Amino acid sequence: MVKRCSTCGKLTKDFAEFPCPTCGEKLVRCKHCREIRNKYVCACGFEGP
Ligand SMILES: [Zn+2]
Ligand SMILES: [Zn+2]
Repeated sequence: MVKRCSTCGKLTKDFAEFPCPTCGEKLVRCKHCREIRNKYVCACGFEGP
């Protein structure tokens, strides 16, 4: 299964999926963005570490 990373927008097979703490929308993060601790921004405006 391939998903699009919410942070970098790339398609990835190696991802973590979790709900946004604010709106519950599913966020997807690829391994790369986890490793470099890239910030993610949800559609609702929430920014995470
Ligand atoms: Zn990414
Ligand atoms: Zn959100």
